[in-house]
Amino acid sequence: MRIKDIKLLWGRSGNRCAICKIELSPDGSAETIGEIAHIVSRTKEGPRGNDALPFAKRNDYSNLMLLCPNHHSEIDKLADSWPSSKLHQIKNDHEKWVSEQLEHGVLSFKPIDNSQYLEKMYDSWVSFSKSQIWVVASITPLRVDDDSIDPLDDSIIEALNGINLPGDGFWEPDINKYDIMPDENGMTNIRTKNLEEGDGHKISIFRTGHFEFLFCLEGSINSITEFSKNKEPDRIGSYRIIRYTHLALVITKQLEALKNIWTKCLQFKNMTSLLSG
Ligand SMILES: [Zn+2]
Repeated sequence: MRIKDIKLLWGRSGNRCAICKIELSPDGSAETIGEIAHIVSRTKEGPRGNDALPFAKRNDYSNLMLLCPNHHSEIDKLADSWPSSKLHQIKNDHEKWVSEQLEHGVLSFKPIDNSQYLEKMYDSWVSFSKSQIWVVASITPLRVDDDSIDPLDDSIIEALNGINLPGDGFWEPDINKYDIMPDENGMTNIRTKNLEEGDGHKISIFRTGHFEFLFCLEGSINSITEFSKNKEPDRIGSYRIIRYTHLALVITKQLEALKNIWTKCLQFKNMTSLLSG
C-alpha cells in the first residue's frame, strides 16, 4: 500500500471506523486499533476476491476502508452479507459524514493528557527565566509546514540585526547578529549574560515559520521601583512597579520585529490559508 493512500484514508475517515464510528486511536496515544480493510480481497480466494477489479488496483485507496478490528473481522468472515457494493456505499456515506461534521465543527476528540509535557516546559521555563519578569510575544502561521523557511537565510539575519529594543538607560538596546545560534528547531538569538541585572532577550525562529520573542522587563521594573523607593512621599515599600508605557512599547516592538521577519521570508499563502493543498 502507498503511504499517500493510507494517509488519505485515515484523514477522510476522521480517525473512526466506517461502520460503528468508534474512535480508532483512543486517548491520543500513538498506538492505534484502526485496521485497513480491503473491499475486494487482494487474492481471488479471499473475501469478495472473485471480482473484475484488476489485482494491481486492489491496494489503491478506492478499494480500502478504515475499520475497527471487530468490523474488519466481521466483513471478512461473513463476506456474503457484506458485498463490495454495500461496503462502497458505507465508505462513501462515512466520508461524507466526516466532512459534514468537520464543517459544522462538532466532531469531538478526546482530550490528550499533556500534563507531563507541560510540567517539563514549566521547569525549563523557570530555569531559563531565573524567576525574572519577561514579556513574550509569538506568531504562528495558519499553515504550518516543516521547512517553510530557512531561519539562517541572510535576509532574516539582517532583519534581526536591525531590531531596536526600547532603551532609555535601563535596558540593553539592540539585537546583535553575533548572538545567533543554530539549534534543532531553526535558530535562536539570545543574550542573557546581564540577566542578573534584569536585561536579556531571546528570539527563536522555527523552520515552520513560528517565531517567539522574549524580552526581560525586570531591568525596567527594578529601575522604576528603586527610583520610587528613594522618593518621598510616594514611597512604594515592597511593591514592584511595571510602567505601562514600557510594557506597551516592548510588545509593540516585539510584534513589529516578528512581522518584519515574516514579510521578508514567509509566503503569503502560509500566513493566510488553511484550505489549499
Ligand atoms: Zn467498527
